[in-house]
Amino acid sequence: MLQRLIRLALPAIAGVLVATGEASRAQDLPPGIDHIPTKEEFAKDNNLFLTFARKALKWDEPAEPVKIVGPLYFVGTEGLGSWLFATSDGLILLNTAMPQTADLIEQSIRALGYDPKDVKLIVNGHAHSDHAGAIAWFKEQSGAQLAVMEPDVAPMEDGGKTDFHYGADWKIMGFPPAKVDRVLRDGDTVRLGEVILTGYNTPGHTRGSTTWVTHLVDDGKAYTVVFPDGAGFNPGYRIAGDSPSYPGVTEDFRRTHHRLEMLKPDIWLGHHNEYYDLPGKRERAKTEGVNAWVDPEGYRRFIAHYKRDFEDEVDLELGVTPPKE
Ligand SMILES: [Zn+2]
Repeated sequence: MLQRLIRLALPAIAGVLVATGEASRAQDLPPGIDHIPTKEEFAKDNNLFLTFARKALKWDEPAEPVKIVGPLYFVGTEGLGSWLFATSDGLILLNTAMPQTADLIEQSIRALGYDPKDVKLIVNGHAHSDHAGAIAWFKEQSGAQLAVMEPDVAPMEDGGKTDFHYGADWKIMGFPPAKVDRVLRDGDTVRLGEVILTGYNTPGHTRGSTTWVTHLVDDGKAYTVVFPDGAGFNPGYRIAGDSPSYPGVTEDFRRTHHRLEMLKPDIWLGHHNEYYDLPGKRERAKTEGVNAWVDPEGYRRFIAHYKRDFEDEVDLELGVTPPKE
């Protein structure tokens, strides 16, 4: 029940929490919060939203790094996905979690035997603090190049001040700004060593949300790996009607859902670990190896879930259906 309430209240970030069946407990609630706030309470209070998500979804808790496939490793926190590609020409970092957890990501990189100073390229799913939070820090450590999808360049470089939704509350929702070295357009590729990543602009959640796609080889076998982004709306977003969060947001989300449906990953990973069941797959990987991460059906369910949530919310905003419990 707690999981269902969290999912209803935090649709975009809690995603498929319910589907994972992970038991949640009262101690998952932040100090001073005795109930799961409603979507409306979250929408009115970004600080509450952030505090709650950090605690309930374990954004700040350390996690063991783990090999996924070929040169790809998970180096995130228990709640947030960060990814390391170890290429023959250095390291690529995809997402960095919160500003406060840079050291956890660094420890994970070191635990795998790599040096954060060897990060040569940094890419991101979207310019919010839970993914872009420590980009500035890692850039400073390594001098890495930062490549960002064009519509997210401004918020990346001003720490979220120009975010269409959170910009007004930047002091709470922002992050240390990072200078962008390469501006990407939809379908552009970035490359380091033998790893090539294709970035698709999948807007909605932010205008520059980027879904990354790559093909990796492990033990002579090739795998398509997808990091979907942009599909979810947060509390307070206006995704339909006369005063949308930004003009065209409804169409952006629908186009994004369609594009994500077209992708056919063998392995898919998310910027929030509950999306793709990190705990379950990590456990199975101990005996099954790469096969534990192969999950095309889970991807299809994930996208279908987002589409349904979105269209339900559109109906709600347009007054087509009565509010649900
Ligand atoms: Zn976000």
